[in-house]
Amino acid sequence: MALDKRKENPTKRYYRKRIELFRLIEKIKLWPSRKGTLHGIKTIQKLGDQALITTHCNKTFMVNNSRNSRAARWLRNKWISKVCPVCGVPDWKLEKYSVTHFKRHHGSLLLEKNGNTQEKS
Ligand SMILES: [Zn+2]
Repeated sequence: MALDKRKENPTKRYYRKRIELFRLIEKIKLWPSRKGTLHGIKTIQKLGDQALITTHCNKTFMVNNSRNSRAARWLRNKWISKVCPVCGVPDWKLEKYSVTHFKRHHGSLLLEKNGNTQEKS
């Protein structure tokens, strides 16, 4: 009934283009592979400027905390050709990502840990 109406007006999210990669992936828990497959992130183990990422399909790899890395650009530009069938990323997460926008001068850098991020447009 009325509860099903929630999806009609998804909240748009805005993040800065120059957001740190680690902050972004900790928030959205998605990872674009080089083949354009979107994986779900299970764990992020930070080791200084690098992090060990484990996906739900049990791939592990090291990434650098670079704003300009391939993954950061692909996430911003949404260069995704398919979603990993093994990771089983839920629809609500994909929905959330699809309404996420990256702006140069507007949006959150996710600097606050307590969820005090600016999401108003
Ligand atoms: Zn996967």
